[in-house]
Amino acid sequence: MSSFVTGQIIEARCTRCKDVTGHVVMACLDGMPVKVECRACGSVHKYVAPEAHARPKAEKPVRVKAGHNRVEAVDATVKAEKHLSAPRPTRVEQQNARRAEENEQRWNSLVAGRAAVPAPYSMSGTFAVNSLVDHPVFGTGAVLEILPPDKMDVMFKDGVKRLRCVC
Ligand SMILES: [Zn+2]
Repeated sequence: MSSFVTGQIIEARCTRCKDVTGHVVMACLDGMPVKVECRACGSVHKYVAPEAHARPKAEKPVRVKAGHNRVEAVDATVKAEKHLSAPRPTRVEQQNARRAEENEQRWNSLVAGRAAVPAPYSMSGTFAVNSLVDHPVFGTGAVLEILPPDKMDVMFKDGVKRLRCVC
């Protein structure tokens, strides 16, 4: 960030014009202007950054409820605002999201962290319940159930798939 010098002409928010105008820097502190003169109306006032007006929202006070600390309260407020601004998800979308999440948790508990090397999937392969299968499209899955004569249900990251196999 560049530092400012006295006499420099900068853009700043004028407290009298109530607009961003050209200002002459009258005094600086630590490279930041502290006192400026508006070239439009000639008033001398403290420096206000041009964008200062555009971001009062972030400084909005947050009400802290009993039992919550400030971080939680801010978090809850941000979530509430997001919820208000975003279009409400439909019931089906909510159900799908919940199902996907449950599915992933289940997949994680069945597949993730297992030391066993998944066997490459093949329609002519024979698989045991609970063994791991490596499918070229669906990835790694765990065999949930063998369905004679020639099918099995496999839990993949994006859901249970019924695959051909030799039972
Ligand atoms: Zn002014």
